[in-house]
Amino acid sequence: MSSFAVKGWCPDAWHPMMAGDGLLVRVKPRLGRLTRAQVLGLCDAAVVHGNGLIDMTARANLQLRGVPETGWQALLDRLLVLDLVDPDPVIEQRRNILVAPDWRVGDDSHRIAGALLTRLDELPDLLGKVGFAIDAGQTCILGGEAGDFRIERGGDGGLILRADGRATGMAVAAGREVDALIALAHWFAASGGAKAGRMARHRLVLPEWACGDILPAPSAACIVPGLHDLGLRDGSWAYGLPFGRIEARILAGMVEASPAAAVRITPWRVLLVEGAPAVCAGGLIDNPADPLLHVDACPGAPCCPQASVETRDLARRLAPHVAGRLHVSGCAKGCARQRAADVTLTGRDGLFDLSLNAPAGALPVRSALSPAELLAHFGAA
Ligand code: SF4
Repeated sequence: MSSFAVKGWCPDAWHPMMAGDGLLVRVKPRLGRLTRAQVLGLCDAAVVHGNGLIDMTARANLQLRGVPETGWQALLDRLLVLDLVDPDPVIEQRRNILVAPDWRVGDDSHRIAGALLTRLDELPDLLGKVGFAIDAGQTCILGGEAGDFRIERGGDGGLILRADGRATGMAVAAGREVDALIALAHWFAASGGAKAGRMARHRLVLPEWACGDILPAPSAACIVPGLHDLGLRDGSWAYGLPFGRIEARILAGMVEASPAAAVRITPWRVLLVEGAPAVCAGGLIDNPADPLLHVDACPGAPCCPQASVETRDLARRLAPHVAGRLHVSGCAKGCARQRAADVTLTGRDGLFDLSLNAPAGALPVRSALSPAELLAHFGAA
C-alpha cells in the first residue's frame, strides 16, 4: 500500500487510516451523489472488503470500515472502477467540496461545483481538512457547515465569495466563481494559511479583491427525514442514519427495492433517495421528530483506539432525555462534531466529563461521571 494517513490528516481512499477495527477508507462522492450502480457497488465492496458498515461524515462523505490491510488494494481498485475515486491521488486529496445537497440540475450550485471539479489541478497544496463549500441555491443551507472557501447566495440575491470566519463576502460575477475560489485558495497558501490550519483561524487581513460587505443569505433549516422537492418527477425522500451509520446490506436492499436513480449524502447524517417513493428500511429514521437526529456520537470504544469509553449505547439511552443537541465523544478530539453542542460528554480515563454549550474536551461543569451517574443525572435511569 502507498501509505497510511498520519493522525491529523484527512484519510481518503488512497491514504486510509488505521482504526481500532481495521482500515478506514473514505469515499468522497462527487456533488455528494452516488448513482444507483455506484450505491450498489459500494455496498457490495463494504461487505466484501470491509466489515459491512458504512459511515456518513459531517462533510457528506462516506467511510468504509474494518478493511484489512491485505484487502485495501482490491477495495481501491473496485472504487476506481465505480468512478468513486480519482485515479490521481493528488486530485483525490484536493477534492474536498461540500455542495448544498438540495441542488438541482443546472442550478448555480450544480454549475459551480461541476466547474470546480474540472479545475482541481489549479489548486495549491492544501492541508487535508481544508475545503470548499458551494451553497448557491435560492437560499443558503450550509451556513452551519465548515468550508474554508465559500460561494454562497448573498443577502442581496447575488452570489458572493466568502472566506470562512469572515461575516461578509464580495459579489462575484456569474461564471467567475471558480476563478475566485482558486484565487482565494492560492492567497491562503501563500500567506501562511497552513500555519493557522483553517481559513477561519487565519486572521490575516484579506486582499482587497476578496473583501466585501455582503452578508450571506440566512441559512435554511437542514434537511430532515421526509419528502423533499429536488425538481425530480417522483419526489425524493430523506432518511436519517442513527449516528451516521448504516449496514451496507440494508442500504443496498432499500435501493434495490425502489426505482431510486441515485442517493445524495448530506452533512447532517441524512441521505436523500432521488426519485423514489418512501421505502424506509429497518434501522433508518423516517420520523423528523426522532430524538436520535439531535445526537452526535463517534464510534468510541472498542472501534477507536483513542477511546476509553463506549459512546453510542449511552447516547441512544440519553437521547430522549436531553433537550437540544447531545454530543457523546470518545475523547477530546470530537470527531463526530467539531462545534459546540448543548450537552457534551467527553470520555476520559473510562469516565465522562460533562460540558454545556461546548465542544468536546471543553472545560467541564462536572467531571469523571460514570454512565450510570449520567443516566441518573438526565432522568434516564
Ligand atoms: S473522538 Fe476520539 S474516540 Fe471518538 S472517534 Fe475520534 S479519536 Fe476516536
